[in-house]
Amino acid sequence: MDKELFIGGEWVPSESGQTMVITSLVNGKPYGRVSLGSRADAVKAVNAAEAAVKAWGRTAPSEREDILLKAADILARKRDDIVDVLQNEAGSTFGKAMFEAGFIVNIVRAAAGECRRVCGTTYATDIPGAFSYSLRRPLGVVVGISPFNFPIVLGGKKLAFALAAGNCFILKPSELTPLCGLLLGEIFQEAGVPPGVLSILPGKGAELGDALIGHPAVKLVTFTGSTVIGKRIAQTCAVKLKKVTLELGGKNPIIILKDADMDYAVQASAFSAFIHQGQVCMAGSRIIVENELYEDFCGKFSDKAAALKVGPLEEKDTVIGPLIRSAQCDMIGELIVDAVSRGAKLLTGGGWEGNMFEPTVIADVTPEMKIFHEECFGPVVIIAKADSPEQALDLANNTEYGLSAAVFTNDLKQASFFSENIEAGMVHVNGPTVRDEAHIPFGGIKNSGLGREGGRYSIEEMTELKWVTIQNEKAHFPF
Ligand code: NAD
Repeated sequence: MDKELFIGGEWVPSESGQTMVITSLVNGKPYGRVSLGSRADAVKAVNAAEAAVKAWGRTAPSEREDILLKAADILARKRDDIVDVLQNEAGSTFGKAMFEAGFIVNIVRAAAGECRRVCGTTYATDIPGAFSYSLRRPLGVVVGISPFNFPIVLGGKKLAFALAAGNCFILKPSELTPLCGLLLGEIFQEAGVPPGVLSILPGKGAELGDALIGHPAVKLVTFTGSTVIGKRIAQTCAVKLKKVTLELGGKNPIIILKDADMDYAVQASAFSAFIHQGQVCMAGSRIIVENELYEDFCGKFSDKAAALKVGPLEEKDTVIGPLIRSAQCDMIGELIVDAVSRGAKLLTGGGWEGNMFEPTVIADVTPEMKIFHEECFGPVVIIAKADSPEQALDLANNTEYGLSAAVFTNDLKQASFFSENIEAGMVHVNGPTVRDEAHIPFGGIKNSGLGREGGRYSIEEMTELKWVTIQNEKAHFPF
């Protein structure tokens, strides 16, 4: 599978002539070759978007809705192609790939629904003879930068809502998953997106980032990825006073209080921690258990982890497949060694071969250990003990991150207390930390990000709000 860049409605080679081979994570064989975008391509893509922005911004909502609904139908029809690329390029298990391929259809339909709801408000006013209201206008050219782990959903969500709001959009997919990004380009082209409105530009972040972000026509950068890169992008945007939204990393707590339904909590926590080998921003990787349940929970949870099927991606019931790169394993290994040397107990796992990391559970972890704070982005869970709900909350909030959190309890007062006081953008009571819907305000606080994505929240981020008054009677002035 050879793919070129999608710029200005055409498939073109990179100006630099550089290409990259994608090796399949399913069988280790070459899976495809992709053109690698250069700075010159970035400028071309923004120029094409700038040329298309006025006309696209003026399209009727029903026209954009029609294109997005067509794209959703094509996405549904091409489910098997999407699953194939998600497995081979992004290392998704069959179950995760099927989920992602289904969810993107849902997201694009939700975005289609927002086209008719881009609206402002009318205001009561003290100004005599005036009518006062606000309206929302598209921003213009929006750049989306997406990560490798859910490449279809995370790139596709930014793309669909940007177009719904009347913006032109350039997607820079992760260099680890360029084919996923380019498949989105093919599908939206087939759905009828006019030339220039959408470009897909695979390439290295360090090479393309500044060229895209620095271009004066780009009005918003919407980034999903690591906190370290997100902060760098935010700094570049700040210098240019450019709008930015950031969906970043997490070290998401799961709190299990003494009255929780233990077996259910074990199951929900295992799903939160191990889906996609733990390579999920919302992964429930830090479990905090109240004293009374601690030993019992550690035993049951590590048994559950040890029983998960680790295997090849071809087998449909594999739960734990490979990590995206083997370097990730070395980084996680160092964190485990640090924790164990400071008194943590390795209950199961801890080993790896190539990029296959065993599902790992470590108990007796304290905030003094690096692994309590650092995102592993692998199938690794730490468990800490709390003597009281108050201490559980302190431990939960003892992190630079604030993306998702879960609390397991049947006590209404505790449910309410924790949902109010956990420092996170999303809290789930008796549910997993890994949850998303197309229309909810998805996002984090602290070092997990800025802004929200999904439904009308995406539309708000991707439009500018303008206050308008219409003076129906002459106003009076003091001089
Ligand atoms: P990453 O930060 O390494 O890369 C993300 C994107 O940034 C890629 O497209 C990459 O090419 C680009 N990039 C790299 N350097 C850049 C630069 N200097 N300028 C512009 N762009 C640059 O992240 P990753 O490894 O692909 O993904 C994993 C991270 O993403 C984890 O930290 C995870 O928690 C986070 N994530 C967050 C969410 C969320 O919604 N909060 C969702 C998924 C992943």
